[in-house]
Amino acid sequence: MRVYSADWVVSAEGESIADGAVAVEGATISAVGTRDELGEGERFDGAVILPGLVNAHSHLEYAVYAGFGDGAAFDEWLAVHIERKSRIGVDEMTAIARLGAAECLASGITTVGDASFSGAAATACDDVGLRAIVYIEVFGAGTSQISERYAAHRDRVAGSLSDRVQIGISPHTVYTASLELWQAAVELDVRLMTHFSESELELEWTRTGRGPLESVRPGSIRELAQHGLLVDRLIAAHCVHVDAGELALLAEHNVAVAHCPRSNALLGCGIAPLRELLAAGIRVGLGTDSPASTPSFDMFEELRTCLMAARVRDRRPDVISARTALELATLGSARALGLDAQIGSLAPGKRADLTVVSLEGTPHLPWEDPVAAVVFGGSPSRVALTVVDGTERYRRGVTEWPELIAEAHSARAELLRAPAAVSAPAAKPAP
Ligand SMILES: [Zn+2]
Repeated sequence: MRVYSADWVVSAEGESIADGAVAVEGATISAVGTRDELGEGERFDGAVILPGLVNAHSHLEYAVYAGFGDGAAFDEWLAVHIERKSRIGVDEMTAIARLGAAECLASGITTVGDASFSGAAATACDDVGLRAIVYIEVFGAGTSQISERYAAHRDRVAGSLSDRVQIGISPHTVYTASLELWQAAVELDVRLMTHFSESELELEWTRTGRGPLESVRPGSIRELAQHGLLVDRLIAAHCVHVDAGELALLAEHNVAVAHCPRSNALLGCGIAPLRELLAAGIRVGLGTDSPASTPSFDMFEELRTCLMAARVRDRRPDVISARTALELATLGSARALGLDAQIGSLAPGKRADLTVVSLEGTPHLPWEDPVAAVVFGGSPSRVALTVVDGTERYRRGVTEWPELIAEAHSARAELLRAPAAVSAPAAKPAP
């Protein structure tokens, strides 16, 4: 048995424990209490022990896409990513996803719900020790992508799958995946992820069938509901522009939502109605999306943006508390991914997924409120330790990934390589 102790143990459930400790046996939390009760073990001064952060929506395969198309309209931004992605293969995608998974661990994240173009995220999470549900993306008309993409990628990464790294499927959106494809995906009986109501362009397309989005069809949340395709195994990222009727449908069918406030802000999509989503009883988690839209897998920045956006939107400071935000990033995300029986809080019997955040040198010491200290003062550089399934996966100042970083950077160089110039036809020799 190992024990970690710190100034505070903060869990998503129950009161914070001053001078607290967490005992770990194998891959499981065996006890949570005070240092007096459990012993000192390894001590972290000026620090808080938290449940590992749960990132409800990411794309690890875009870890090095930072800055691509910044400031462009949503459809143009998307086009830049699709064109650049076409320049690399699965090896590069895996190298990039490994960097993303490592950056998550170094940011105190222990689980991701990852929408994956190639399934490479499963290999990456297995390699670096991150917990994940990897949802393989499918697009287009018909159902051929179930075998051509979903099953093919699932089989290719089968050796990386385990209790810790599970596979799901992601019909990309209501308008880029056909109704038949949605139907086939739901019939697979695995976990589902999608993107709902992210941009106004999407709204224009799904409601009027017009606009610049090149899509297979104008679908809608209502249409999915009519066909019995809203299920509780589904988590929908964004939901920025949902009307009251759509919100009621999500609640009625127990569809979860991944709230991604930084991504929505940086792409100029808007502010999702967090207060209304929570009031409707919808399971809401917090997600970073990917560096393609947000600059990082930094859940602390996401927490602060979540608070700021909700308070700006409602012009009320009490619309969301630091405690509620932290709950969204831990137990809330775990509920949204259907993993809350195993992770999301520090409790005996749950998987030993935890992170230690040092607040030393910040204006938050001496302590008043450890939750506010973490939410307003936390950052990846303050993460001292990250443990997944009882195994230490990141330790500040010790864990380094030089080869992994170098490989990901060379993959970014491939993405940035200028497309091969089309050579002009050779001039015919003069007769
Ligand atoms: Zn996404």
